[in-house]
Amino acid sequence: MPYATEIIYMNKTCPKCNLSNPAQAAFCHNCATPLGAGPTVGAQQQAWPQNPVGGAVAGGQYVAAPQETQRAMISMLMAIGAFLCCGPLLGIPAAILGWLELDAIKSGRASANGKTMATVGLWGGIASTVIHVGIWIIWMLLGALSSASAY
Ligand SMILES: [Zn+2]
Repeated sequence: MPYATEIIYMNKTCPKCNLSNPAQAAFCHNCATPLGAGPTVGAQQQAWPQNPVGGAVAGGQYVAAPQETQRAMISMLMAIGAFLCCGPLLGIPAAILGWLELDAIKSGRASANGKTMATVGLWGGIASTVIHVGIWIIWMLLGALSSASAY
């Protein structure tokens, strides 16, 4: 197995002998046929700014999702968590993250695919914070009433 280490990263197939070569290889390891720049890889990389969605496969190489889309997802998950347990502890950061993400989408720095998640994060975070704070106020009022009626 002379190419044992390279097989892991192979993503350029030789048109002549069908050997898989590393992406950066300019010539086939087996028959020295020029492999060129790989037109599909170049085209997908050029399309990248218009299509930055959830991990694109460019020439066999997995490209991770952009951080902004992950941020929208984290914002939404924190908003859901805020409803379930922690209220403002998760709701406030969820709202802030959602807001930042919507701002980034508006100015074109993030993928519009995160917009729904970021909106859920923003309003879900605000709503859960308001609901939890409201419950606290009611609890405090009830506590004040019951201690007042004890005298
Ligand atoms: Zn070859």
